[in-house]
Amino acid sequence: RTVYVNGEYLPETEAKVSIFDRGFLMADAVYEVTSVLDGKLIDFEGHAVRLKRSLDELQMAEPCTKDELLEIHRKLVELNDINEGLVYLQVTRGSDGDRDFVFPSADTKPTIVLFTQNKPGLADSPAAKKGAKIISIEDIRWGRRDIKTVQLLYPSMGKMMAKAAGCDDAWLIEDGHVTEGTSNNAYFVKDGKIVTRPLSTDILHGITRKAVLRMAAEAQMEVEERLFTIDEAKEADEAFTTSASAFVMPVVEIDGVQLGDGTPGPIAKRLREIYLDESRKAAI
Ligand code: PLP
Repeated sequence: RTVYVNGEYLPETEAKVSIFDRGFLMADAVYEVTSVLDGKLIDFEGHAVRLKRSLDELQMAEPCTKDELLEIHRKLVELNDINEGLVYLQVTRGSDGDRDFVFPSADTKPTIVLFTQNKPGLADSPAAKKGAKIISIEDIRWGRRDIKTVQLLYPSMGKMMAKAAGCDDAWLIEDGHVTEGTSNNAYFVKDGKIVTRPLSTDILHGITRKAVLRMAAEAQMEVEERLFTIDEAKEADEAFTTSASAFVMPVVEIDGVQLGDGTPGPIAKRLREIYLDESRKAAI
C-alpha cells in the first residue's frame, strides 16, 4: 500500500512518526473514515466538517485545508486502485520531542496520516444479507463521544466480548439507555416507526446517521429521536446500525433474542438500498 504521512506519499513500510507523538502516548488524536464506492468518496464533505469540529473541540490545529484533504483522499484511492473500500484519516497533536501531559506549543505541527483499505464487496456485503447479532454491554467510555478520538480500546474490547459470545457487535448501555454501537449508531423499528437516540455529547454524530435520517424522512418513514432501552429494542420488529464502514447494517438478534423472523427487516433493507443508491449518485 501507498500511505500518506505529513506531506509525503510513501510505501507503508517506509512511513514513520515520532515515538513521542501524542497520538501514541496519550491517544491525543482524532480520525475519520470515509467509504469509497465505484472509486469515489461517499459524503467527503460531511467527514471534513466533522473532522474540523473534532479538531476545534480539542484545540488542535488543522493539518491542511479541506481541498488538500480531498486531493490526498483522491490520490490515495487512485494510487491504491480502490474501487470499494475505506480511507482512514488520522490527525494527532504531534509532539515537541518529549513526553509531557501539558500540550506542546501551539505552533507544533499536527501529525497527519492517511491510509486505505481495499474492501471489494463492501456494498454487496454477505454480512448485511445475514444481519448482525449483537450483545449489550455497559458503556464505560469517556463523556465526549461526540469527538471522534482514537480512544478505541473499550469499543475494541466490546467487539471482543461480542465475538466471545458468538456475536458480531455490541451495543452500549448507559443509565439504562442504549447510547450507540461500538462503531456505529443504533436504531430499532416498531410498528413502522424508526427510533434512535438524539444527538448529544453521549454519542458520535454519525455522518451516515444524518444521511439515513434525511433519506428516511424523504421516503415518508416515521422517525423518532429519543432515549430507548435495550428491552424496547429486543421487543422491536427490526433493528439496524449505521456507519460509514458498513452503511445500514440490519440487526437480527439482541442478547440472544431473535427479532422478527431472524432475517433483515424490510425497513433496514430498504434504507440500505436507498442509502447506497443515493450515496453513489452524490459521490465525488
Ligand atoms: N458511533 C461510533 C462510536 C463510531 O465509532 C462510528 C463510526 O466509526 C459511528 C457511530 C458512525 O459514524 P459514521 O456514520 O460517521 O461512520
